[in-house]
Amino acid sequence: MTKENDLHKTLKRYFGFDRFKGDQEQIIQTLMAGKDVFVLMPTGGGKSLCYQLPSLLMDGMAIVISPLIALMKNQVDFINGLGEEGLAHYLNSSLNKSDIDRVKDDVVSGRTKLLYVAPESLLREEKDANGVVTRKVKFGFLSDVKISFYAVDEAHCISEWGHDFRPEYCNIRKAVDTLGRAPIIALTATATDKVRTDIKKMLGIPDAIEFKSSFNRPNLYYEVRQKLSDNDTNNQIVRYIKQNPGKSGIIYCLSRKKVEELAEVLKANNIKAAPYHAGLDTATRTQTQDDFLMERIDVIVATIAFGMGIDKPDVRFVIHYDIPKSLEGYYQETGRAGRDGGEGVCIAFYARKDLQKLEKFMENKPVAEQDIGRQLLAETQAYAETSVCRRKMLLNYFGEDYTQDNCHNCDNCLHPKEKRDGTEALRIVLEALDALKENFHQNYVTDFVRGHMNPDIASHKHDKLEEFGSGKDLDDRLWNPVIRQAIISGYIRKDVENYGLLKITAAGRRWMENPQQFMIVEDREFSDVPDEESAGGSVLDPELFEMLKGLRNDMARKMKLPAYVIFFDHSLEQMATTYPITQEELMQIQGVGEGKARRFGKEFIKLIAKYCEENDIERPEELRVKTVPKKSAMKVRIIQDIDKKMMFEDIAQSLGLEYDELLDNIDAIVYSGTGLDIDYYLEELYDDDIIDEVYDYFMESDTDDIDAAIDELGDRLSDELGDDYDENIFRLVRVKFLSEQANGNR
Ligand code: ADP
Ligand code: MG
Repeated sequence: MTKENDLHKTLKRYFGFDRFKGDQEQIIQTLMAGKDVFVLMPTGGGKSLCYQLPSLLMDGMAIVISPLIALMKNQVDFINGLGEEGLAHYLNSSLNKSDIDRVKDDVVSGRTKLLYVAPESLLREEKDANGVVTRKVKFGFLSDVKISFYAVDEAHCISEWGHDFRPEYCNIRKAVDTLGRAPIIALTATATDKVRTDIKKMLGIPDAIEFKSSFNRPNLYYEVRQKLSDNDTNNQIVRYIKQNPGKSGIIYCLSRKKVEELAEVLKANNIKAAPYHAGLDTATRTQTQDDFLMERIDVIVATIAFGMGIDKPDVRFVIHYDIPKSLEGYYQETGRAGRDGGEGVCIAFYARKDLQKLEKFMENKPVAEQDIGRQLLAETQAYAETSVCRRKMLLNYFGEDYTQDNCHNCDNCLHPKEKRDGTEALRIVLEALDALKENFHQNYVTDFVRGHMNPDIASHKHDKLEEFGSGKDLDDRLWNPVIRQAIISGYIRKDVENYGLLKITAAGRRWMENPQQFMIVEDREFSDVPDEESAGGSVLDPELFEMLKGLRNDMARKMKLPAYVIFFDHSLEQMATTYPITQEELMQIQGVGEGKARRFGKEFIKLIAKYCEENDIERPEELRVKTVPKKSAMKVRIIQDIDKKMMFEDIAQSLGLEYDELLDNIDAIVYSGTGLDIDYYLEELYDDDIIDEVYDYFMESDTDDIDAAIDELGDRLSDELGDDYDENIFRLVRVKFLSEQANGNR
């Protein structure tokens, strides 16, 4: 039987696939021939199989080094599911002694073919009496088995130039040498030339055979939008999701706080969403992940902690709420969209201000690290601001030439900017580089051609050069796009190893001898917007407002309810501003929950629709997006605690609130349209007939004011209840009353 036959049989028998994907087969054969291998394959390309399959066929046991403890278990379960228990195992810090014994038994007996290990679980350091450090294998039994090969997954973690540097990865080669050398296969989804060099150097595999798949993902659509304010961004996101109902998506934010806030906003807008970040406990995270995979929720709002190894083929959109720290991260995260080859929309929100924030975060880091961080940020900025095809920019960044003029699947290609002549500007830049002996980075060069003095230029006396200021008559905004596009066209090269110094390539030299017309597109304008919300444009329609009030009062009379129970004034004002004409739209109004919309809504939307038609009113195109009041996380906790029937005193204490503050929060919840069932608590405090008395008062009264209630009922209740009397009874019963009568909670 030929080996090839063997491979296909194993592929079918264990994995159930009929054929290999991309370079898988060659990769596996190269590894099985005993060579080191380097695999660069985009996310979803099928990297795991490149080590899983050969491990089953080769003599001995393969060691897979992988950064994510959480994912190891899934992979091990998967492999064991293909064959038998014990075929794969994992070793990491989550295991206890008896777990480890079980692994040891299977490994030593030769049953285990594939062992997943966290990099820090390979070696331990020992100091002798003289303080000399030696490294020993952490699990001694590993020294007794034959190792077929080492697989280093997510190998970019070894490089500071990647987006997910993990210092433990730097010890992998030492571990390999300690355990015994065998072929090494390194795999990653993203690696620039620099990261690729780092990986080979750090793993000591300079001669590894490289397999590089194209990184182009033609089905992904890329778009960058200007971030004006958080509120506006929230609105855009809600609208996007509403226009794409039922589709799965991931939204990345940089901070946990933002993740929580945005998830609340989405939920308030009836979107099935959940937050995900490292601050949540494992059980919650696992649950959220499962819910997403099983489509019990549509949208995950996450920090970058989410997604590595998530294999959901039909994620339809990936939104970056904040611009990421590097294009490597961006590419990896957007790569999670459309793995099945179907639609994959990638939208990033960008503000210069966010870049400055990221730069600030770096200030405490060592200088060398800051330097790297800044260069990575500069690439992100260039990507965000460019008018060049985004695919071309991305692929160029990963060292791939994308030659098509228009990809028809990014914002810049769908709305191309007029090109203008950049020939003169390119000539000026190249001559400046030459004059500066190709020894400076982009900012220095742009200052230099503009004739812009800075302390560096002064200290090099470069203002004395003839070329200093040679471009001062040209538009300032030209220089960055010219340099960027000259890099893409191959006239200039950025020396990443060396602080990003700009070099002239051979093609650049040829161009200088014989210049051809060089057309460029200017960058997009990203004005620096102030923090404040851009003023909302819509205005209240007084005529409609009066009509709505009239309708409410009629209904109140008919239903024998106080008018405010039907809709609060501020809700009517919003209706007269945004003209909702469906239940769904009505529920976007502050103070209108599902219960209210169902009980009272019909007449109102009928009236508004008729009014719009008769008066030829163009309804605002965009849905009104429901915002969540501040401190929403607190309110969610309160709602949950009341659902659990906790005593209010305990809720207040657990949240660090005064009792009064808790009642304020509860009022805010109820007045914004959510009903609460607090009967369990009221009944603990008061007899039914007292509760009924206050309840009936609110039913008859035309105001929800507490002082008015005290005036009316206070003395009597105080006589009846004696020591048990407390003015809070009015507030508490009002909560019950509004919940049941206004919010339809019964
Ligand atoms: P990566 O690690 O490169 O992101 P994975 O190894 O997680 O990708 O594989 C991505 C998906 O491709 C998985 O669902 C996997 O089952 C599938 N896959 C891998 N190899 C093949 C193949 N030869 N034929 C069909 N599907 C495959
Ligand atoms: Mg993988």
